[in-house]
Amino acid sequence: MIRDKRVPTHNTDADRLESRIRDTGMRMTAARRIVADVLERAEDHLHVEEVLRRARKIDPKIHLATVYRTLNALKEAGLVDELDLMHVGGGGHYYEIRPSKFHIHLVCLTCGTVEEPEGEFWEQLGQRVEKETGFKPEALRMEMGGTCRACFGKRKNR
Ligand SMILES: [Zn+2]
Ligand SMILES: [Zn+2]
Repeated sequence: MIRDKRVPTHNTDADRLESRIRDTGMRMTAARRIVADVLERAEDHLHVEEVLRRARKIDPKIHLATVYRTLNALKEAGLVDELDLMHVGGGGHYYEIRPSKFHIHLVCLTCGTVEEPEGEFWEQLGQRVEKETGFKPEALRMEMGGTCRACFGKRKNR
């Protein structure tokens, strides 16, 4: 079981996934709008069954295959990222809107907590890569497994 809390991925309407879908020239379908809405509102990383469950609250007739296809299309367009979160919740994959700012996923291998720090350090990582290699980073998908502060504290006190 994964316990996590996502940071908001957008601040303005232009950042919204629906507008980003339009910007890429992708056709807007009902399924894309529903999946975009689900991902936009998510405060956690969602596996496909959870996307389906939430999508069905909007359209009870939507199928798993449609949700899969939609997630894949969004992934291929670079609008959605697929993560495995160190397989701490099993073998499934998790989806999130590709953030406009770099962030990392810190996954506690003991309790399954996922933390999502963002900020200067991770932004600077991109700048450092560019400076040192000439490569221009545009997307970053990073996961780190370890022990969260709470679990580490418990271990030390044992
Ligand atoms: Zn994330
Ligand atoms: Zn932990």
